[in-house]
Amino acid sequence: MEVLYKSTRSGQEPVSASVAILKGLTDDGGLFVPDHIPALDRSLKELAAMSYQEVACEVMKLYLTDFTREELTGCISRAYNEKFDTEAIAPLAEADGVYFLELFHGATIAFKDMALSVLPHLLTVSAQKNHIKNEIVILTATSGDTGKAALAGFADVEGTRIAVFYPKNGVSPIQEKQMVTQRGDNTFVVGIHGNFDDAQTGVKKIFSDRALAAEMAESGFQFSSANSINIGRLVPQIVYYVYAYTRLLGEGRIQEGQKINVVVPTGNFGNILAAFYAKNMGLPIGKLICASNDNKVLYDFFRTGVYDRNRKFVLTSSPSMDILISSNLERLIYRIAGDDPQRNADLMAALTGQGRYEITEEMRARLQDFYGGYATEEETAATIRRLYDDCGYVIDTHTAVAASVYGKYVEETGDQTPTVIVSTASPFKFTRSVMNAIDDKYDSMTDFELVDELSRIANVTVPGAIEEIRSAPVLHDNTCEVDEMPDMVKRFLKMR
Ligand SMILES: *Cc1c(COP(=O)(O)O)cnc(C)c1O
Repeated sequence: MEVLYKSTRSGQEPVSASVAILKGLTDDGGLFVPDHIPALDRSLKELAAMSYQEVACEVMKLYLTDFTREELTGCISRAYNEKFDTEAIAPLAEADGVYFLELFHGATIAFKDMALSVLPHLLTVSAQKNHIKNEIVILTATSGDTGKAALAGFADVEGTRIAVFYPKNGVSPIQEKQMVTQRGDNTFVVGIHGNFDDAQTGVKKIFSDRALAAEMAESGFQFSSANSINIGRLVPQIVYYVYAYTRLLGEGRIQEGQKINVVVPTGNFGNILAAFYAKNMGLPIGKLICASNDNKVLYDFFRTGVYDRNRKFVLTSSPSMDILISSNLERLIYRIAGDDPQRNADLMAALTGQGRYEITEEMRARLQDFYGGYATEEETAATIRRLYDDCGYVIDTHTAVAASVYGKYVEETGDQTPTVIVSTASPFKFTRSVMNAIDDKYDSMTDFELVDELSRIANVTVPGAIEEIRSAPVLHDNTCEVDEMPDMVKRFLKMR
């Protein structure tokens, strides 16, 4: 059955998947949601016998119903290939009585690769399907991780160009090095004199500049976004939950139909929302455990029914979760509001206006599958240390937030359900925090000394993504003021 995409904020005409992917956001400022959540049409046993790529096809075809099977398999095979350092694509590692779903085996060793390696292909196919002749220009503001994953995904993809703006003094040295060494003739990286918010505001301004859009169209270009609210990022994330479950089934670790819990280190709420969709497709998931760091807006929300961003923004050792507005939560709010766009729009207006909203008791009752928890910086570090000491397994700071929250959950509930903890980044990406958590003697080492030491103590080879930047030449050295961003884009496109 065809799935069309509606807006979370109004009754605007639903669109096909390919149009939703091209547009990113709805015209009324809402998010695209499927008009119904399709059920898995293969048995879990059948799926257990399939490869990652095959499972991806079986899941994605149910959502991207205007793509032909050929188009889908083309996108999937161009995405999930040797760019990943393991054939399993998303392997499970057992440690400490739980299963860690490692989503960091792609080009930039963070979970963003799972969706951003396929999005460029979904986007170019969507453009063809809708007879768009313009080249697609992706604009991204990044605080570090998304920028590199988007660059790696779009590099040398025909019919696309990508420009990334990052705060010149606001990302880690490794993150900056990863971006400025990016290869690909269609890539462009600019450090701006300002913070991440300035970069994001600058990009949004370019998106809404109609005169610029007209000028672009004349030169054969149009803008698009690789932001995490694009359904082209959400749908590929459903895949690995189905994959993880069916691996456990295939290995005889669970029985068909037996429930598993999932624990997700959460920021923008995209990853855990994908798990929620997977559950609603019929995947036997029990609890969806939402783990936050000290920016615990979501923990408070699940506990009280009040979402309140009026609080201090805390910088933590899990920066990809330092976020006070979890954009993808809107899709869940819409759902628990009974798919009522007006009720959702009112709540989102309150969030914009007062920075807070409160849901009704009736809506809260629909959140019973979720459990919210959080971990402090000390708890996060202690979890890394304990897991290393007990099992020799090293996890990154984001994953450690999830593992810590899981520990508290079990203590509180005694729930012994088999559990998958989603591991969202390689420890090599956050080496300093990870090594400091294990032992404070590492304080004086340089970043790359720490990389080698981590490799030694964890008995894991240094990922290619890190090896690469040790010696890679800097290919991008552009910087600009915030108000020069539109000119930089034109320069990149050689429009003047
Ligand atoms: C983006 C990111 C997260 C948060 O994922 P959301 O989908 O935004 O909730 C967690 N960990 C890492 C390493 C990330 O890069």
